[in-house]
Amino acid sequence: MAATTRPSPTLYRVCCNCNAPDADVKCSCLAVYYCGLACQQAHILEHKHECTHLLCKSIKKKDAVISQLQVQGCSDGVASVELMVLEQELARVHYKVGTLMMHSLQPAKYPEAETHFKHALHLYRKVEASRGTLRGAAARAAAGKLADKAADQSLYDTLVDFGQLYGLTCQNDDELQVYQEALQEVRGDIAHASTPQLQRHLSNILSAMGHMYISQYRSQITNGAKGDKRKCTDANALLKEALSIQRAFSQDGMAADTLKILASAHGYLEMFDEARSSLKQALHLARCCDGEESAKVAICHQEMAIICQEQVQAIIKQLYMHMGGARGGGGL
Ligand SMILES: [Zn+2]
Ligand SMILES: [Zn+2]
Repeated sequence: MAATTRPSPTLYRVCCNCNAPDADVKCSCLAVYYCGLACQQAHILEHKHECTHLLCKSIKKKDAVISQLQVQGCSDGVASVELMVLEQELARVHYKVGTLMMHSLQPAKYPEAETHFKHALHLYRKVEASRGTLRGAAARAAAGKLADKAADQSLYDTLVDFGQLYGLTCQNDDELQVYQEALQEVRGDIAHASTPQLQRHLSNILSAMGHMYISQYRSQITNGAKGDKRKCTDANALLKEALSIQRAFSQDGMAADTLKILASAHGYLEMFDEARSSLKQALHLARCCDGEESAKVAICHQEMAIICQEQVQAIIKQLYMHMGGARGGGGL
């Protein structure tokens, strides 16, 4: 998530290499500035992995090599493994560019990010389908050269990020569809052969989906609408499942994040005691992972204060209703 912390280009024109202010040489990717060409060149080895302009150039090159291979035709299985390796590399670059554009804080780049995610998914799926058709020597070559789907993070990570992109652009139906498909696919893979990596992907998808329902509910009520409580109930179930996986694999940092969103779901469902208990656990994990003086710990305290306040308000409201009811009864 380093890309999200990158300074917005319109606010900070600090040289990316030497931190000099008022840098006025802009990289073609428009994301970074330099005080001069010397600094730009000195920084290129580091920046090239994050530069959408250079990565898009490498996409074009890889596209050209792949089309040439396709024209020549793959006479044997081993040659087609080479093609699959290239396609998998290309998928990775598309995914990388998609995430960089999604985190660029420039909504104008979101449609392009969507296109890159689509290319990445198409290629990952294509490689996966071709792998299933390989036999003998080709299958052995593929096993050595191609990242295994179960071990490879990229297909499911792409799906999770793709869903988040739709969340940013408020395409709620598309967001839900991406997560539902990802969930179905990863559960299918796990039923076939469960691995810790697949479990990790499952927990990521579940928590992204839970997060989606909570954000949707939050925007409903902040817009003055009556929120759909089913979203919170669904989030509750998804987040609990994500949490049990994260606990089983001791992913404490992620469990702390999940517990925080779970507390929001409990709060919206007026399950205040559960919310406080989740926040206490989140606080404990955040202290262990990030230390007492960390932002995560501060947020847990803040959330706890909000939940307590909401609980007090709910109790007062009940009290008023009770008193009103008693008075009404007395009048009869
Ligand atoms: Zn400089
Ligand atoms: Zn650049």
